[in-house]
This record gives sequence, C-alpha cells and structure tokens, in this order.
Amino acid sequence: MSNSLKIVVVGGGAAGMAAAASARRVNPSAEIIVLEASRHVSYGSCGIPYYLGGLVEDVSRLVTYTPEEFKRSRRVEVQINSYVKSVNAKSKTLVYVSGKGEEKEMGFDVLILATGAKPLVPKMEGLGLKGIHTVRFLEGAVRLKDDLTHSKRVTIIGAGYIGLELAENLRRIGKEVTILELLPRPMPNVDPELSAVISRELTINGVKLELNKRVIGFKGSERVEKVVTEDAEYETDLVVIAVGVRPNVSLARQAGVELGESGAIKTNSRMETSVKGIFAAGDNCEAQHAVLNKPVYIPLAQTANKMGYVAGANAAGGNEEFPGVVGSAITRVFNLEVGRTGLGEEEAEKHGFETKSVFIKARSRAGYFPGGGDIWVKLIVEKSSGRVIGGQMVGYEGVWSRIVALSLAIMNRLTVKQIVFSDIPYAPPFSPVWDPLITAARVALRQ
Ligand code: NAD
Repeated sequence: MSNSLKIVVVGGGAAGMAAAASARRVNPSAEIIVLEASRHVSYGSCGIPYYLGGLVEDVSRLVTYTPEEFKRSRRVEVQINSYVKSVNAKSKTLVYVSGKGEEKEMGFDVLILATGAKPLVPKMEGLGLKGIHTVRFLEGAVRLKDDLTHSKRVTIIGAGYIGLELAENLRRIGKEVTILELLPRPMPNVDPELSAVISRELTINGVKLELNKRVIGFKGSERVEKVVTEDAEYETDLVVIAVGVRPNVSLARQAGVELGESGAIKTNSRMETSVKGIFAAGDNCEAQHAVLNKPVYIPLAQTANKMGYVAGANAAGGNEEFPGVVGSAITRVFNLEVGRTGLGEEEAEKHGFETKSVFIKARSRAGYFPGGGDIWVKLIVEKSSGRVIGGQMVGYEGVWSRIVALSLAIMNRLTVKQIVFSDIPYAPPFSPVWDPLITAARVALRQ
C-alpha cells in the first residue's frame, strides 16, 4: 500500500481538470483521481453554440483531453461514468456509483469539489414535452444539434450570454429565431445604453426579440408546438431554455460544507471550504469581488480554471491564492462584440457607491484608415476618488483588448486620470490617436 497523498477531485470540467493538473505539477508523487459523472472530461462547454452553428464541426473538437490522454500526460487517474453520491468528511471516504450501477467506496486525504453548475429550469407547464433543451453538457449538445436538423422555428428563452450566442449561431444555419426575455432589455448584464445597441444588432440580423415576456408553459401533443407566456402564445418547433445557472452544491451540503449567501460554496482565497481537507473550485463556488470586497457568484469559465489551479496546488501541498474577480466577461452577438468589467451603474449605486458615468460613441480605428467600426464605451467612476469601478463596451471590433485594459485598471484601482495618461500603444489600423477608452476617461475627468 502506498503512503503518498491521495487527492480525489469530484468533477472533470474546467475547474476539476485544472485542479488535477495543478496538483500534479506541485506534487509529483501524489495519487490523484478524478471522478466524473458523465462520459466526458475537460470539455469546453463555451464552444457549444459554435458547434451548433457549424463553426466547430465535430463535438470531439470541444474536448481538450480524453481521460487516456490526461492519464498519459499527467499521471492522473480519470474515472468517467462515476457519480459521487455522498461524502463523509469525518472518515474521509466517499461513495460513488460506477457506470455499471455498482456502489463503491473510496478513501481520500484531500477532496476537491468541482461539481460545477446546472442550468436553471423554472417550474413551467409542459416541461416534459419533446423538443425542449438546455445548453450545458456535450451529450445534450449532440442531442440538440440532431433535433435542430428537423426544426425550423426555434424559440430561445432568455437573452443572456447563451441566448444571444445561440441566436447568432442558429441564424447562421438558417433557423427562424425568437427570443423571449423576462426583462425589458436583452443582456441585462450590461447597462441599458448598451442593451439598446444589442437590440438593434439582433433585429438587423433577423432575430425576433420579445421583451417583458414571462413564459408560463408549453403546449403540444408529444412534442412542443407552442410556448405560452402570460399574454401570448408562440408557435415553435424547438425550445432552448437559457435563463441562467445554479451552483451544483448538493454534495457539498451533504458533506457539511458551508454555503455563502448566494447559495454557492464559500471558500477562502486558498479555495479551502469550511471543512478541513475539502477544497472547492469552479461554478459551484463564490469568488471575492475586488471592487465590492465581498463574495459574489459569477460563474465563468476562466475563473473556474484559475480557481482549479489554486485549489489543486494547495491540495497538493503548495501555496497559491485566488485574488478574486471583477466580473469581466465578453461575448459576440453577430458582428457586435460586447464586453463588461467591474460594476454596472445601477449595481454600483445599489452597493452604495456615489458614481458618475460617461457613455461615448467613437471609431475603433483612425478616421482615415480603411475598415473599423463604431464602438460605444461606458465608464463608471467613483465620484469621491475618481477611481474607475466599471466599464462596458459594445462595438464592431477592438472590444476585447480594451476591456482587458480596463479590467486590469479596475483590479489595480486606477483613477480616470491614470487611465488618460497610461502609455498605451497607437497606430492607425488599431485605434484613433485618442483611443476610445482614453477619450471616455478624458470626458469623465472633465465632469
Ligand atoms: P445569463 O444569466 O447570462 O442570462 C439569463 C437571461 O435569462 C437573462 O437575460 C435573464 O433576464 C433571463 N431570464 C431569467 N429568467 C427568465 C425567464 N423565466 N423567462 C425569460 N427570461 C428569463 O444565463 P445563461 O445565458 O443561461 O448563461 C449561463 C451561464 O453561463 C451564465 O452564468 C453566463 O455568465 C455563463 N456564460 C458566459 C458566457 C460568456 O462569458 N461569453 C457564455 C455563455 C455562458
């Protein structure tokens, strides 16, 4: 019997696999096992809309490592079709159900919970009808792609990240797309001025956007035929529900791990939970918000990877810290890039910040230079300190790089004046001499 440290990771998604790889880097002799309920590990669910739209031809392209490759390159034992049912933190054992339905027990020295999140599906009549999907896991994506081949009219519920990425991809393959959104604007994660630009982009590209719509159910004999809202009915061949996710914390709760106010797992910056010897990482966890200085639940892929890196290193005896997030995110809606970081204006005020904000429209390249497009920039500034606490952009190019700059500025508490005088590069193919970000900061400085 080996007396090396035994690390068991529950969940083979982004966080779990990052944790296993990181643990191996820190500790060459540890025994590391990943238990994953589905048939896949190390998959990029963020790529699913592009697989559905044909930009990624084969679903296997979304898988970075097979269990065998991971075992070969990292010496990590990956067991798929292994659903962990319960954890006993005291005896340091867990029970899992193998693919054959057998219950097995496994001991561990350190456990990492990387159980992710699951799609939120509100209670609605007729949910059992065929043709109603969510987007999260590869198996479901393959089923959805197949179902799309004989469906023309698609209704998407929710105009958030998945809803809008799907809309672009489903229009690409010629579907009639209707989006039903509960709130009065699409992408409520950005401020209303930016949502208005997004609405226009959706309309230009033939998406029917229906706002203020609460779906109460579905009608059909065997397969869905109609989506029913409080005030209307929409004929449809297929439905995708994309109204957010919930942290998958049943195992954590059962193991006695403390949850935060958001309902996700509470950890410290080393990704340790309230139970000694149990770490957590990924979409099941809260993260410290560097502007709010409090834990928040913002489940995103890059955060999950970094949390996994930290949890794995510490579980294996290393010493890493996850410094937190500022809520940076980016997506593409047809030709429009949409990015945000820090706090939105309303969000900032809700949390007691006294703010001023600017919203400008500029060009992404020098005016005389061919190509380029419009870009809209919003900055949210704390009045008393002049510190930038939020920024959002939509535009036809160059959003990603400017949101990157802004997220670093926010993370490092820069003021608008420091942004104005920051030494950023310039050449006509990339920006006007006064970059849109700098222009927005100058306007804010004058206010
Ligand atoms: P989301 O939170 O981005 O959007 C959900 C949308 O559904 C919101 O617009 C919300 O107002 C709406 N909604 C909520 N309840 C509704 C209801 N009953 N009827 C109609 N609309 C309703 O969630 P998502 O699009 O499902 O994405 C899931 C998760 O994945 C999110 O955490 C998201 O941040 C993440 N994600 C991120 C990216 C990215 O960063 N590019 C891409 C895909 C997914």
